[in-house]
Amino acid sequence: MNIPVTSRIAPASRPLAGRVSLVTGSTSGIGLGIARALAAAGSDVVLNGFGDATEIDRTRERISKECAVTVSYSPADMSEPRSIGDMIAAALAQHGRLDILVNNAGIQHVAPLEKFPVEKWDQILAVDLSSAFHTTRAALPAMRRNRFGRVINIASAHGLVASPFKAAYVAAKHGLVGLTKVTALETAEEGITCNAICPGYVYTPLIEAQIDGQARAHGISRDEVIRDVLLAQQPNKRFATVEELGALAVFLSTDAAASITGIALPVDGGWTAH
Ligand code: NAD
Repeated sequence: MNIPVTSRIAPASRPLAGRVSLVTGSTSGIGLGIARALAAAGSDVVLNGFGDATEIDRTRERISKECAVTVSYSPADMSEPRSIGDMIAAALAQHGRLDILVNNAGIQHVAPLEKFPVEKWDQILAVDLSSAFHTTRAALPAMRRNRFGRVINIASAHGLVASPFKAAYVAAKHGLVGLTKVTALETAEEGITCNAICPGYVYTPLIEAQIDGQARAHGISRDEVIRDVLLAQQPNKRFATVEELGALAVFLSTDAAASITGIALPVDGGWTAH
């Protein structure tokens, strides 16, 4: 039986120096916040996601300059298994290693079960759940070779509890929590951890898009939507921030978190304590 020793003492200010991270869906919102935080902690980063090419290039250059790390970009579609395989292969070819994989890309659709469009169900399951299976299975061999890896799955409070009208999203996020546990168990002896972060409401473009729509639907103000609709379940009545999630992803990626694996950690202001 080996007694563990900390093999790698990294400077506190850049604890991820020398690491390579890939964050899916990192052209916006939580993914971008996590990518920035990983880069600020010293990791090279591969961005991924949709958006305006010029804007993405500007973001890539800004993070690279501010954090003095290499930042690349893959436009791979997370609903396409072959593109996902190509993205991981290209990241390994360019950077020579992949240490931190953040499965963050996600989409949402809200409709009653009987009216839920079948193609939306398929699309949400593909992007919010299956993409993490495809990225993880492609990334694990390199992590196993290095005897180091961090897989961080951005699930949701909806990976732990349900809300009506979100059948596909809730099913996908519960599935992602299950995948997290299996990944953790299969890699536990190899220096690899896998955890799920389960945010409640976080202020991002995905949420901003819902505020005006809900205000119109309910005939109430934006403030009322935020307090009485969106944050109705969130006891602390505040949105979490992308910076808070970025800091958590950095911590889970450090050597200090080596024994944290297989968990689904709520960051939900008390929502799932109900
Ligand atoms: P967002 O819409 O701001 O960002 C989503 C990102 O995913 C974008 O970069 C987008 O380009 C990318 N993306 C979407 N489809 C893709 C595809 N097929 N291939 C590649 N990239 C794709 O959303 P967000 O609020 O930042 O959400 C990020 C993750 O966090 C999602 O998994 C979401 O379910 C989860 N989450 C968000 C909240 C919240 O309140 N915002 C709460 C809990 C969980």
